[in-house]
Amino acid sequence: MSNTEIIDMLELTAKLMELHDVDAFKIRAFQSAAFNLDKTSEDLTKLSFPELIKLPGVGKSVAGKILQIIETGRLQDLDDLLAQTPEGVLEMFRIKGIGAKKIRVIWRDYGIDTLQDLRLACESGEVAKIKGFGEKTQQAILESLAFLENQSGKLRMDKADALAHMLLDVFEKEFSRVEITGQIRRKIEEVDTVQFIVSTADPIAAFEFLNSLSYLEQNEIESTPFTWRGQASGYEVLIEIITVSSDQFESQLFIHSAAEKHLQVTGASGWTLLQTSRTFPTETEEAVYERSGLPFIVPEMREGGFEFDWAQKHSVSDLVTWDALRGILHNHSTYSDGKHTLEQMANYCRELGFAYFGIADHSQTAVYAKGLEPYRIQQQHEEIDRLNAQFGGSFKILKGIESDILSDGALDYSDDILASFDYVVASVHQNLTMSSEKATARLINAIQNPYTTILGHPTGRLLLARAGYPIDYKAVIDACAENGVVIEINASPWRLDLDWRWIQYAVSQGVKLSINPDAHEMAGFHDMHYGVAVARKGGLTKNMTFNALTLPEMEAYLRKRQPRS
Ligand SMILES: [Zn+2]
Ligand SMILES: [Zn+2]
Repeated sequence: MSNTEIIDMLELTAKLMELHDVDAFKIRAFQSAAFNLDKTSEDLTKLSFPELIKLPGVGKSVAGKILQIIETGRLQDLDDLLAQTPEGVLEMFRIKGIGAKKIRVIWRDYGIDTLQDLRLACESGEVAKIKGFGEKTQQAILESLAFLENQSGKLRMDKADALAHMLLDVFEKEFSRVEITGQIRRKIEEVDTVQFIVSTADPIAAFEFLNSLSYLEQNEIESTPFTWRGQASGYEVLIEIITVSSDQFESQLFIHSAAEKHLQVTGASGWTLLQTSRTFPTETEEAVYERSGLPFIVPEMREGGFEFDWAQKHSVSDLVTWDALRGILHNHSTYSDGKHTLEQMANYCRELGFAYFGIADHSQTAVYAKGLEPYRIQQQHEEIDRLNAQFGGSFKILKGIESDILSDGALDYSDDILASFDYVVASVHQNLTMSSEKATARLINAIQNPYTTILGHPTGRLLLARAGYPIDYKAVIDACAENGVVIEINASPWRLDLDWRWIQYAVSQGVKLSINPDAHEMAGFHDMHYGVAVARKGGLTKNMTFNALTLPEMEAYLRKRQPRS
């Protein structure tokens, strides 16, 4: 154990004490010890109790704590504090410009306990309104959050895609042919390698060009004469640029687009896809599948899992597309924590060519998100009736709600209020730390509620930020099948929850999936592109996509399904 480790533990204890509003005298004892010990040249692990209390800033109580750390490697006070602190709140200490006191306000007074919720609250301007915060602090939090997101060595799909396209624009001016391949082409939700294939007759010149770009930095040890590896400034993710001659381009693009297990599949020809592609390097991907005696598989499905079984029953044209979607069901407005008004959201949805817009603002338990009290629901429904009258039938706003699933699995309105909605998205937002048994029982209870139409973001995961609560997927999906509940594929690139790996099981049980953007602003609708990408990756067909129903079909479904008052 080094001095730094000991000091870090004392500092963290002081911060958490401040967060939990422990006696100020105790906090000062830890702070002053940490501050003074930072300057000592003595090896703390070699000091006895009498020697420790001779050091400036170290009192008897803290000296005892230091000995406990040295002897056991832990500190009971710290463990206790950590047990009372949600993961997301702990992460807030990494944000520059806010300390324990502000974090305490954000968490205790506004119920925000994840970085994702904090970002949303900043984006909707709520944080600036908090006493003692203001615009400047809000902006500083947003900047710091953006910085943290780029530092993990992995990028969420949306960020990876943006970075890849920025580089693609530059490469296209230099090389006769460039394509993005690898994990991005396969629509993987967390990307650790941003990969390109570039066509060049002169790899040395290609490397010189890449190294002339100020924002790229080559890692020479990891690179080979034909593959440039390195990083882009501001990102920790690996960038890999594979240079190939033009006659190898098709083959290399294909090989790098697929997982190893996919390439090893043997077709009727007796050859694997890898063998075929290597032997006929100029052939298109379609031709390689055909020559191997295998059905064509779209890039996003090339994982070496269920895709060839899937292709026995379906063709590529069965897969869901953006154009197959007819409406958007899970959205927020300024009634709760959204940025745009109900009318703005609905109009934009209509402009995009959709036939229905489902509003699903937060319910009353979500106080920090301005969840709707009953009188606000009534106001919203009156506004919807007025707007729908103006739309005159060609477009419709559906009355929904995102109702919190309480700890026992109940929804947080009485039945008569639930009966006033066209549909209900039931989601867990609070008390996320639970065992798989508890979480599964909680979800199933909500699924069994006759008012639940759609199960929202089933695990609560936030990619690269928070693991979801563990659930028994099969039990949850089976309960949805039994109760006629649709499962959401939350299309926010933060969530992509239901995980695409469970789509086939859901479909096999007859459960439909709804691709929902969970939009908190108009631009949020476009997140459905990520939802469509992972839905296709999981083999979701148009006819099992809930929001591919036309408006009359959706209305008929909801009329039959929803209990009415
Ligand atoms: Zn939600
Ligand atoms: Zn939502």
